[in-house]
Amino acid sequence: MPALMLKLPTPVAESWDWQLAAACRDADPTVFFHPDNERGEPRKSRIREAKRICRRCSVRARCLNYALEARERHGTWGGYTEDERRTLHRQSAQYERDRAS
Ligand code: SF4
Repeated sequence: MPALMLKLPTPVAESWDWQLAAACRDADPTVFFHPDNERGEPRKSRIREAKRICRRCSVRARCLNYALEARERHGTWGGYTEDERRTLHRQSAQYERDRAS
C-alpha cells in the first residue's frame, strides 16, 4: 500500500500568533483605516499616527508580509498604506517582468 502523504494546513492560531505582539493591539483601529471621504490634512495626520505606532512594532515585517501576500486592500499594515503597498506590488511585478526578459 503506498504511503499516504498529507499536507495539513498550518494551524490557524499559529499563523496569527504574531498579532499577539502587535504594537497596535490596544490602539484605536480607526487610526489604521480611513473613513469614507477622508482627505487632506486629517488623512495625513491619521496615517502619520499609524506609522508612528508601526515603527515601534516588533512584528512589523511579519505584518507587512501578511498584508502583501493577502493583498489587503485597506488600511495601514506594517507601516505601509494601501497606496504604498500597491506601489510595492507594481514594482515587484515589474522586477519579475524585467528578470524574465
Ligand atoms: S506593524 Fe503596525 S499594523 Fe502591523 S501589527 Fe505592528 S503596529 Fe499593527
